[in-house]
Amino acid sequence: MTDRRTAERIAEFIEPLRVEPGSRVDLAEDFDPRYKAGMKKRDGVELLRTGVELLADYQARLAAQDTWGVLLCLQALDAGGKDGTIRHVMSGVNPQGVQVSSFKVPSAEELDHDYLWRYARRLPERGGIGIFNRSHYEEVLVVRVHPENLDRQKLPAEAKGPGVWERRYREINDWERYLADNGFKVVKIFLNLSKEAQRTRFLKRIDLPEKNWKFSAADIRERERWDDYQEAFSDMLSATSTPWAPWYVVPADRKWFARICAAAVLAHTLVELDPRYPTVGAEARRALKDAKRRLEREAPGGAPRDPYAAKHHDR
Ligand code: AMP
Ligand code: MG
Repeated sequence: MTDRRTAERIAEFIEPLRVEPGSRVDLAEDFDPRYKAGMKKRDGVELLRTGVELLADYQARLAAQDTWGVLLCLQALDAGGKDGTIRHVMSGVNPQGVQVSSFKVPSAEELDHDYLWRYARRLPERGGIGIFNRSHYEEVLVVRVHPENLDRQKLPAEAKGPGVWERRYREINDWERYLADNGFKVVKIFLNLSKEAQRTRFLKRIDLPEKNWKFSAADIRERERWDDYQEAFSDMLSATSTPWAPWYVVPADRKWFARICAAAVLAHTLVELDPRYPTVGAEARRALKDAKRRLEREAPGGAPRDPYAAKHHDR
């Protein structure tokens, strides 16, 4: 169980990253991609390890309690560090309790449905953690920056007229509220990368043969739309940070710091949910005692009656 002090420290740590619901965000003004809370990389390694251990413990309890599910949505521009964040932050948890879904350009089948359909199909089950590597937010980001995506969605004419983005913000907020009300907590992280850090990471992908596969010509074309994306992100963050599913803007220029922040945001959510291992009632306890006596009677000659208890004197 996490003590109150740890819970408070996590909450304080992530507070500057949280987008206050109802506030107007201007990314360039309000969030510095190089912020690192005065921390050194050396201290960061230890902190991330602690965070990963904490997550493993909470994930086990979340699964055992089987009441809440958690959905972590990760958004970023290309080279923002989504894959590495997932790899590091989830490194300690039981793979059975986590499902990662990556969303690409929608398929023909997906375009034949409403725009939230493909995301709804990948929601976590109770007790599980779902991770969206890109998410339903692409529907107000890439689709907005490149409106030809909207044309491909085969919407009725009146559904893609003016006000479409405002309507989508509202629909997304409503959907997330519905999920939260029914036991599925939505956690949203935007990895905020600077244009210069993206340039450096792209060059690394080009320079190192084993990273070449990560780079595509489309990445350069998207980069040319940098300002449009910054605006789309700013509007999206302003409109969809809600009390039931707030956004966290994580400074992403330093990978080690971004990972600590992502772990802290997820840990905060789990600490708040405070999942517990189910305890058994008086009748079940009597049944356990009865089963224990039977098993003890079966001990072969010379063997301890209960080898586990013999080893751990407290039982
Ligand atoms: P990557 O994550 O690098 O594999 O790239 C996936 C690509 O799919 C990105 O270029 C996204 O912009 C694109 N994508 C994701 N969701 C959508 C969507 N709903 N509509 C159009 N493109 C999308
Ligand atoms: Mg890519």
